[in-house]
Amino acid sequence: MHELAPYAVSPANSRGRRIGEESSSGRTAFQRDRDRIIHSTAFRRLEYKTQVFVNHEGDLFRTRLTHSLEVAQIGRSVARNLRLNEDLVEAIALAHDLGHTPFGHAGQDALNACMKDYGGFEHNLQSLRVVDVLEERYGAFNGLNLCFETREGILKHCAKKNARKLGDVGERFFSNQRPSLEAQLANLADEIAYNNHDVDDGLRSGLVTQQQLEEIGLFSRHMAMAKKQYPEILGRRLIHETVRRMINTLVADLIKQSAINIADARLDGLSAVRAAPVLVGFSEKILQEQQELKKFLRDNLYRHYQVARMSAKAHHTIEMLFDAFRSDIQLLPPVYQAKYGTEKHQAIADYIAGMTDRYAIREYRRLFAIEES
Ligand code: MG
Repeated sequence: MHELAPYAVSPANSRGRRIGEESSSGRTAFQRDRDRIIHSTAFRRLEYKTQVFVNHEGDLFRTRLTHSLEVAQIGRSVARNLRLNEDLVEAIALAHDLGHTPFGHAGQDALNACMKDYGGFEHNLQSLRVVDVLEERYGAFNGLNLCFETREGILKHCAKKNARKLGDVGERFFSNQRPSLEAQLANLADEIAYNNHDVDDGLRSGLVTQQQLEEIGLFSRHMAMAKKQYPEILGRRLIHETVRRMINTLVADLIKQSAINIADARLDGLSAVRAAPVLVGFSEKILQEQQELKKFLRDNLYRHYQVARMSAKAHHTIEMLFDAFRSDIQLLPPVYQAKYGTEKHQAIADYIAGMTDRYAIREYRRLFAIEES
């Protein structure tokens, strides 16, 4: 591994695991965290969970799994250049969406609405709950017993009322502290990944067109570069040559600007990172271009009527499942009933949040179609 900068998280300055474990001879603590995440059940479920397009809409669209892999790839390459802890960034990236419900944001909004009177539902918090509580793999503890810095990175946002219940990992939401640079980076790698793959998936789906995107600075600039180098190429090949240039520009800008911010802050260690403002970020120009692209995707893809129809169906499915279990807890699989006898609504939310798209669709049929069992 490359030599870490003094402001990077390292196994030496880590706050460690909640339950002490002997260190491994062949792997660092953060490589071990990454491996635990990859072997978890929740990680395998990401394959069948919606990013933007519901799983059955097409085999080539991003799922939560391929999205998470792209986030990890981008995060690692920036981490290497900034001499940050690549293994930690990778672990955070691979785990950041573990708590997502089926059906993407529509599913999350629906479950949050269902849980309104019982503390709400936040996917970041649920990702932490997956790695802290819900995974059942070890004899000695529930969850994966990950290092503090991995857990802190997974908890990107959190309502203060929930942060209060979390102990160490919730502290920074009150003490005006920042998470590690690795966590800050994983967050922006997520943005780079989804802005770009949603352009690609949006075009593939036909819900947005190349002509529309040519109005957007970041896209048109890079498409012009691709056309200049390869005047003959068209279609998917041209789109790919454009998108890869966009990713490259964003990654290069993120490295350059973050290096400047970090140098200006004169960091001497990890505690200086926590006290400083957010340092991993884009230049002003790129930030504006990204905002323009984000707005375009929001207005034209995420709010496209065909996406809205699927979102409405997703909302309905989650709501019906939740209501059925709430009105008769006997409908919940016995293992969930037994485990959370006193926290009925949390048990229902955990069950629903863990579902893949197709599991939720099947469960809906099993509950509401008389011919299914
Ligand atoms: Mg994400």
